[in-house]
Amino acid sequence: MRGSDRTVTELPRAAGTGGSVVVDRCQVCGAADLESVLFLGFLPPVNQMRTIGARPHEQPSYPAELLRCRQCELVQLGLIVDPAILFPPEYPYTSGTTRILRENFAEMQREATALLGLDRTGLVVDVGSNDGTLLENFRAAGHPVCGVEPTLMANLANERGVRTLMSFFGAPAAARVVAECGPARVVTATNVFAHIEGVHDIVDAIVSMLGEDGVFISESHYLIALIETLQYDTIYHEHLRHYSLTSLTYLLQMHGLEVIHAKRIPTHGGSIRVYAARNGARRVEPSVQRMLDEERNGGPLADRLKAFAHRVARSKLELHALLRDRLVNGARLFGVGAPSRASTLINYVGLDRELLQAVVEVRASHKVGKYMPGTVIPVIDEAALFEQQPEYALLLSWHIAEELMPKLAARGYKGSFVVPLPEPRVIRQKA
Ligand SMILES: [Zn+2]
Repeated sequence: MRGSDRTVTELPRAAGTGGSVVVDRCQVCGAADLESVLFLGFLPPVNQMRTIGARPHEQPSYPAELLRCRQCELVQLGLIVDPAILFPPEYPYTSGTTRILRENFAEMQREATALLGLDRTGLVVDVGSNDGTLLENFRAAGHPVCGVEPTLMANLANERGVRTLMSFFGAPAAARVVAECGPARVVTATNVFAHIEGVHDIVDAIVSMLGEDGVFISESHYLIALIETLQYDTIYHEHLRHYSLTSLTYLLQMHGLEVIHAKRIPTHGGSIRVYAARNGARRVEPSVQRMLDEERNGGPLADRLKAFAHRVARSKLELHALLRDRLVNGARLFGVGAPSRASTLINYVGLDRELLQAVVEVRASHKVGKYMPGTVIPVIDEAALFEQQPEYALLLSWHIAEELMPKLAARGYKGSFVVPLPEPRVIRQKA
């Protein structure tokens, strides 16, 4: 059952088309009044990587345009690509491998337990549960848990004892969870809530799993952090929507949900964790109004986005200037890390192998042995950084630069670091 009086004309779905759908109406409120705020050109899918040595051949690429809805303030991508193209079955991502994420999930379990007064009997469901890292915290605290995960990561989760349905999330998966496990006390969705098209069906399905006193906790990359620290590199086709608390509140209200707590968290270079309950079911924490006020006090979003677009373009020129001065005499530059965001940066800035000779990754990564999307820059074992000692190392996971630099230095890298964003800069190591 729909939770509200919603009368929105929704977009046609991209899933199953083998192609894409142009966003000509807001994904949340349905308004056609969309303002173009940034265009990064055409980008290849970030997880389609060709094997090193294969000749480049025809490959799709999609326009990366950011739109702002004048009615609900949602910032969203202007094109939705069929998820079958973006999320191949071998999708190489494991949440358990990132320290910041592991710590964040442990902290979420502690916060939720204290804030909601959870006892051990309450079912916790995670949507897009990956390898079960988040649920593992609730399981360890004694809760029954259930994950829903479409990729092979579901097997890994089940092997470690975290019950997981291998399925795309939607009404049928939600019905199965309720039939097999009962209503949920908590439903979590971290870093998936911006990724799935047909957002109203997703929220409906989440609400259908919640018990009367159930709470939905979402974590999403935060639009304001994106603007503040110039994270245009998080714009790629997996990220359909970039939420502020203002726009997220608008969406949740359409489904009879009320935001009861919100806070900023450090994951992915700046995210928000938002708790929502049925209208009037729980006390609203002062954190909610505080964050909404902060967003309003930052000035009109249209103006902030205009300034953002200008800074993005300028940062490209500055990175070019910084690299030109150093690489023109034959200095070598390797990239460090091949996260999805690296693909946007490399393609938007226009780097290829004459400028960026290689990108290094941990040996176990599925990306080693492949080319960066849209280029012939090889991704190679990180040992090459220490053996070949290029003069410069471009930190493509620049949002964790402070954590990375001492680690790479301790392991023997002696060259200089290039941090591309928010302001391109070179950090020379002391001899
Ligand atoms: Zn809208």
